[in-house]
Amino acid sequence: NIPGLAALDASKMTTTLTTTPRSVPEWNGAEARAQKTCTDHMVTARWTAEEGWEAPEMKPYGPLSILPTASVLHYATECFEGLKLYRGYDGQLRLFRINRNCARMRTSAERIALPDFEPKELEKLIIALCARDGRKWLPKERAGCFLYCRPTFIGTDAALGVQRPREALLYVILSCFPDMSKSLATPAPPAMTGAANGKPNTSSGLRLIASREDTIRAWPGGFGYAKLGANYGPTLVAQGEAKARGFDQVLWLYEKENWVTEAGASNFFVVIREKTSGKLQLITAPLTERIILEGVTRASVLELCKERLAEGREGVEGLEVVEKRFTMDDLVAAHEEGRFVEAFAAGTAFFIASVGLIHFRGKDLVVPTMEGESGIYTRVIKEWLVDIMYGREEHEWGVVV
Ligand code: PMP
Repeated sequence: NIPGLAALDASKMTTTLTTTPRSVPEWNGAEARAQKTCTDHMVTARWTAEEGWEAPEMKPYGPLSILPTASVLHYATECFEGLKLYRGYDGQLRLFRINRNCARMRTSAERIALPDFEPKELEKLIIALCARDGRKWLPKERAGCFLYCRPTFIGTDAALGVQRPREALLYVILSCFPDMSKSLATPAPPAMTGAANGKPNTSSGLRLIASREDTIRAWPGGFGYAKLGANYGPTLVAQGEAKARGFDQVLWLYEKENWVTEAGASNFFVVIREKTSGKLQLITAPLTERIILEGVTRASVLELCKERLAEGREGVEGLEVVEKRFTMDDLVAAHEEGRFVEAFAAGTAFFIASVGLIHFRGKDLVVPTMEGESGIYTRVIKEWLVDIMYGREEHEWGVVV
């Protein structure tokens, strides 16, 4: 914190409650799926270069007022986070590893020239909003359901000069959100798979299409490691094309070697039998080149698997957990040699979603264990996380609100 400037301080928050509370939409209904409905309140905190952070405000959800010259509207000075508020089977409300989201928000803010803050204070603001609106919008009857929390940070400097914003607004909203993992359970009709090899796709799970050579999500020296809005807008053309051809997500490749990086807005894991050692490996791309977002789900999958392997827990025996670069050629070879065991996407929105098919340069690579059900490792890992998120297992990652 810069001396003389006020630090972000959640304890200074003022509260103005809504006088027009709204009704809660049906869980997973059309309104929730539209992803437009937010809860009754939001938290905002304004920052200026002259004074630093003003007192945060809890207030009725509603429009923001910014001038047409605001920095964010011209130079994409924006970053955000995404996490869920879970209604546990024990009746408690929980956030999952919120400290990681808040730390990542700080990293993202730094990359896009937005001001610094103490992540712990953002945690407190998020928790205050979840506590205020969670009881009504995620009632006890909705055990196993969630709301989506979107902390957002924008440069509001009303000046067109290309410069670090001298004014910014941090806000937190809570939104009704569909259960994406369920909506993907139905296989697409064969005509919709875009299967260039003519075979109908009978697999369930996510259908991915590898990105084209001319479309790159992130590159070294860029900002793929940060959760900036600028990482997402430019992917929408490829995502739209993928959808139009019957695929769910783009599998983002990098460089001529076709390094596999991420799947849509999720990290990507494969389980493969290693050629020489014959060992089963759970593999995901490494963070070293800073072209991959360090997902909270990704980190949790890696940590849980390593921890539980060491404890000798049932479910992942014999698996090696590896962060390393791998290419589409590696996947194709593993597939041809019968060593490709499972694949899944891991992220907050889609959670742990089995991948059933990868379309790459005119061919479909059908993940073998996906003929009807998810792979065993994918299922075990998903269950471990669900148990923590919904309070079936007491764990420090589940933060009770
Ligand atoms: N990669 C990208 C590009 C993402 O946008 C996300 C979603 N935040 C993820 C991976 C997964 O991250 P997390 O597990 O924290 O949701």
